[in-house]
Formats: sequence, structure tokens, C-alpha cells
Amino acid sequence: MSWQSPISPGYSWYEATIPERPAFPVMPGSRRADVAIIGGGYTGLQAAYNLARSGTDVTLIDSCRFGDGASGRNGGQFGTGQRLWAEEAEEMLGRERAQRLFDMAENAKRYVLGFAEEHAIDIEFMPGQLSVSHKKSLERDYRDHVEAMTERFGYPHLSFMDREETVSRLGSSHYHFGIRDVGTGHIHPMKLVVGLTRQAARAGANLYEQTKALRIEKKGGLVVIETTSGTITADRALIACNAYIGNLEPVTAAHVMPIRSFIGATSVLADHPEVLPGGESVDDSRFVVRYFRKSKDGRLLFGGREAYTADNPRDISAHIRRQICEIYPALADIEVTHAWGGSVGITMPRQPFCRDVMPGITSIGGYSGHGVMLANYCGKLYADLALGKATELDLLKELKIPAFPGGTRFRSALLFLALTWYALRDRM
Ligand SMILES: Cc1cc2nc3c(=O)[nH]c(=O)nc-3n(C[C@H](O)[C@H](O)[C@H](O)COP(=O)(O)OP(=O)(O)OC[C@H]3O[C@@H](n4cnc5c(N)ncnc54)[C@H](O)[C@@H]3O)c2cc1C
Repeated sequence: MSWQSPISPGYSWYEATIPERPAFPVMPGSRRADVAIIGGGYTGLQAAYNLARSGTDVTLIDSCRFGDGASGRNGGQFGTGQRLWAEEAEEMLGRERAQRLFDMAENAKRYVLGFAEEHAIDIEFMPGQLSVSHKKSLERDYRDHVEAMTERFGYPHLSFMDREETVSRLGSSHYHFGIRDVGTGHIHPMKLVVGLTRQAARAGANLYEQTKALRIEKKGGLVVIETTSGTITADRALIACNAYIGNLEPVTAAHVMPIRSFIGATSVLADHPEVLPGGESVDDSRFVVRYFRKSKDGRLLFGGREAYTADNPRDISAHIRRQICEIYPALADIEVTHAWGGSVGITMPRQPFCRDVMPGITSIGGYSGHGVMLANYCGKLYADLALGKATELDLLKELKIPAFPGGTRFRSALLFLALTWYALRDRM
């Protein structure tokens, strides 16, 4: 183990399985840029890559190493559409906007797969997603969702799974029924980060790690970012810090709240061919969602436990193992070789946050657990915006995302209470 992220707990199986993680220097001193980007996850890296390849002078800094936030440590599941089901968005926003948001997410899926293919980045894409229910009472909703997607939203890749099919595709009798999505899949998230950093560097982006933004402000029409290694002066800036924003910028911090989520990787399941024989990824109906999948080399990667406070759990793997055993009792003795966590940025309505927080300073994040494809695409869209093109980012800017209640002092406490209540409901 060579590097431990200072902002996210545990050493991930993803990091253990990349051949090489390119390192980038600390910013050597103050500099001028056309565009400055703070935060080197998918959002910031994609923005840097796309701006640099079109000839823009772009500087990207990260307080840690690229991918140390959520982008290098997530569940790797693409999903389909936005975090909210399309028919839920339809109720809130009307038919046309819901369709456009759905189409945007499909464009995001195509964009990420196309990017990886164009640059021959092996992101270990594996097809298929199963969304399964732990409550019998949700059957009507699941059936209606398949119908709505097929008949109204033009997405023909879903089918309802009865209990028998669900049990055989999961290799577990824990769930009642589910939905199979053959139009999506899952990836090795850190391999995407590494490929992305290489492409951004090759395109000419100025990339700096372990360079923290301390303050961002407007001075004389320019953006001035004070960092731990000098000042960046730029015409415009992107804040791509998502759940790790801290107190750098108050508008983002008021609208994007961190929830910590944890994942464990088991040893290779050589003796359990019944577990996910089709290689799909899975997410369940719990509010504190459990998400799991098999890696290409046959391990179970299982995510579940969430935490709403800043404390790290003492033993991540023990908790993950308990959740694995509830679903797969036959894996009671399986070794959990790696356990790690990261912060997911959520918003009140579980829709992405995109706002000009000051003139020329845009903040994007809050993908609410759905950012693997959306964060990549939003980074690309930000580059288009900065280059003066019309983009689908306007769809996100139009969303009404309220701040979390409670102000800076009580926000975390209120969220803790609300989420603990929902977590309790999962058990009822
Ligand atoms: C455990 C876990 C599981 C997840 N599973 C899934 C999943 O299966 N599917 C899915 O779609 N989504 C999932 N997500 C969410 C997804 O990973 C994120 O939405 C996405 O990676 C966000 O990318 P980002 O670039 O916006 O932010 P991040 O990748 O979090 O990057 C933010 C960066 O900003 C940097 N930063 C912060 N403050 C400063 C500062 N002051 N100066 C400089 N740099 C700074 C941080 O160091 C960090 O690198 C998961 C997230 C977690 C944590």
C-alpha cells in the first residue's frame, strides 16, 4: 500500500488493482489560466480534458490525488436515467423536462463508454443491472416503472423479474422481485480515473495534485483562487469538489451534503458459482441502499453501510460482512480483503446541483449516488459551456434545488435525524 487518501477512509481494492497510478506535481507557484478547476474527480478531470483538447489554457488542482474523492472509490454502477425515476421527475417537472433529463442521462452513458473506447481505456465494463425489492409492497411500483420506461420514455431494456427469476439471477432468496436492465452495466472506477488523467495530461491540461484551494473570489472581473501553493488567476472557474467542498464555498456547501458510504471486496468466490452467475450489478430498494456486483476476477464488491457523521467506523469490513451474510448466508466465512469508504454528495430532491455561485464561477455536483456517468458527462458539458456552446447543463441549472435546512450549524444534525429515521423504516 503506497498512498492513503487523507479524505476518504480505507485502501480500496480498486487502487490495489491498477497497474500504475500516475502522480502529478504540486503546483509550483502562482499562475494565470483561461479556466481554473478545483477538484480532480470525474467532473473536474473531464472538464480539463475537454477544454485542453480544444486549445484552452486550463489549470486543475486537487487537494489530494486525483480520484481520492468519490470518483476512484465508488460502486462503479452506471444505472439508467437520473437518481429519481423518470416518472417521479415527471410528476415534479412535467413530461417534457423529465424526458429531457432522462435523455441527458442516456447521453451520459454513451459518452463515458465512447470516451473509454476512443482512448482504449479498459474500464472493465460488464453489462447488466438488477434492481431488487426487499418489500413485497413495492411490486405495483416496479411493474409500473417497467411499463412507464418502455411505453412512455422510449427505453426498451427493462423487464420485470418475478421471485423465481430474481432468486436465480442473484443466487439469493433474500429479495421478492426486481427489474432487469440490459441497457446499462458497471465498471472499474479507478481505471477510468487513471485513463482520464492520462488523456487530460496528453491534451495539455496543467494538472496539479496536493494543492488545496483555500479561498475563491472575484477581483476586477477575474477569478482569484488562493491555494496552498500560490494563486491562480483565471477568466472563469469550475468548482468540482462535490461532497468534499468543506467550507471553501458556502452556496455549494448549503446545497450538497456529504453522506459517507462504505464498500468491501471479498476474496475470489471460486466455490460459489451461484452468486450473480450473469455478472450483473445489483441495487436494492432500501433507503440506505445496498449495492453489489462481482468484479471481473470473481470477487463480490459489496456496498451498503452509510454514515451521516464525520467519524470513521472503527471496522468497516465487519459491518459489510454482516450485510453480505444477510443476503448470502453461504458466504459467512468469506474473507473481506479490502474495505474502504467515500463521501457521496446528495441534494434535498436527489437531483444534480449546477449553479453559477458567482459570475464566472460554476459549481457542479450533488449527483446523489448517480454520478459515475453523470459526473463525467457534466464535466464535458461544462467544457462545452466555457467554449460558448449551448449545452444540456441548462436543464440542471433550471432545477430548483433548495438548500438543506438548519443553516451551517444544524444542517448535519438535522440530516442525521432524518436519514436515521429512513434507515429505521428500511427494517419495518
Ligand atoms: C462509496 C461510494 C459509492 C458510490 N457508488 C456509486 C455508484 O455505484 N454509481 C454511481 O453512479 N455513483 C456512485 N457514487 C457517486 C459517484 O462516485 C460520484 O457522484 C462521482 O464520483 C462524483 O464525482 P466528482 O468529480 O463530482 O467528485 P469527487 O470524485 O468526489 O471529486 C471531488 C474532488 O475535489 C477535491 N477537493 C475538495 N475540496 C478541494 C479543495 N479545497 N481544493 C482542491 N481540491 C479539492 C477532492 O480531493 C476530490 O478529489 C458513489 C460514491 C461513493 C463515495
